[in-house]
Amino acid sequence: MTCEAMAKENPTSVQSSESSDSRPLDGAPQGDDSRYDRALRPKTFDDYVGQEKHKDNLRVFVEAAKRRGEPLDHLLLCGPPGLGKTTLAQILAHEMGVQLHMTNGPVVEHKGALAGLLTKLEERDILFVDEIHRLNPVVEESLYPAMEDFRIDIMTGEGAFASAIQIDLKPFTLVGATTRTGLLTAPLFSRFGHVVRLDFYPVHELARIVERSASLLGVECDQPACEEIAKRSRGTPRIANRLLRRVRDFAEVLGSGKIDFAAVKLAAERLEIDDVGFDDMDRRLLKVIIDDYDGGPVGVETLAAAIGEPRDTIEDVYEPYLLQQGFIGRTPRGRVATKKAYLHLGKKPPSRMPEPLQALLPLEDPSDDE
Ligand code: ADP
Repeated sequence: MTCEAMAKENPTSVQSSESSDSRPLDGAPQGDDSRYDRALRPKTFDDYVGQEKHKDNLRVFVEAAKRRGEPLDHLLLCGPPGLGKTTLAQILAHEMGVQLHMTNGPVVEHKGALAGLLTKLEERDILFVDEIHRLNPVVEESLYPAMEDFRIDIMTGEGAFASAIQIDLKPFTLVGATTRTGLLTAPLFSRFGHVVRLDFYPVHELARIVERSASLLGVECDQPACEEIAKRSRGTPRIANRLLRRVRDFAEVLGSGKIDFAAVKLAAERLEIDDVGFDDMDRRLLKVIIDDYDGGPVGVETLAAAIGEPRDTIEDVYEPYLLQQGFIGRTPRGRVATKKAYLHLGKKPPSRMPEPLQALLPLEDPSDDE
């Protein structure tokens, strides 16, 4: 029996293994992602699909650092969630043959916690700080001498007995990751020797990622199905891997177990993901701009209030892909819907459209604040 036929017969029999309020198209980790991450995460540059330009440069930096017996230069990885920043940090440590120590900006609450992390590092080890733009400013400041001179100043005692002592650190590499480069302070940004801006992946690369993951999971997934999953994955490997698992659920329960084009179509329909990888929230966002604000411009705060999501979620999760795909644009007065957005929603675009300026404006542009 085909997937569709079985679905008609038993329309409620498939339960996703994630909680019902999780969003399959969110690039941030959720539900059972971390369990599968361990199995699916590439361990070497060769396994890491795409981003060729960055990989080629990083290979050179690793080789050069190894030849000189030095740590890698400090490195900043930028890009929306799920594009492979953590994976790259792990690959760098593996290729350098050093330990990777992982933390998260907001978790390092005070200077003492930072000192604890830094003093544990062995020579050439990598300290990976995710969400580095969210470091507490005091902690961030004490990171500067650590990055520049491999030393950290800490205070001991209190009041009149307080004194600063300097601790020498072993030469190490800081790899920072951020979804919001514009929120990094200039002094921190300038201390990174190299910045890698990860791009959304094209469909053919995502299809390769799906194919690789399917084989690691031991599930049969034919080429049209890999491509169909890739098309709906918003240029993001984490989403591609998650969709693959959701489609596998449908294929196993309602189909033959094999993932084919029909299984992907069925899963996408049931999860309400359309052909370009938009879910209900993306469509709502476009509809608000078009129907409630005549196509825009509309400020991000207004949009956030209208769709009931925090501003950060709009900026980090929805907007980057909509912008990159040309469904919305940015003007000095806010977001506008493009002709592509009207057509996607089956609406007639107005004869005069506002000119989007996204190419000219940084992502965190001050006009966003109403
Ligand atoms: P980020 O740190 O940017 O949020 P991750 O590095 O955690 O993203 O990547 C999320 C998942 O996507 C990983 O578990 C990995 O399996 C997969 N992934 C990311 N980039 C690639 C890639 N270039 N090739 C294959 N799989 C990838």
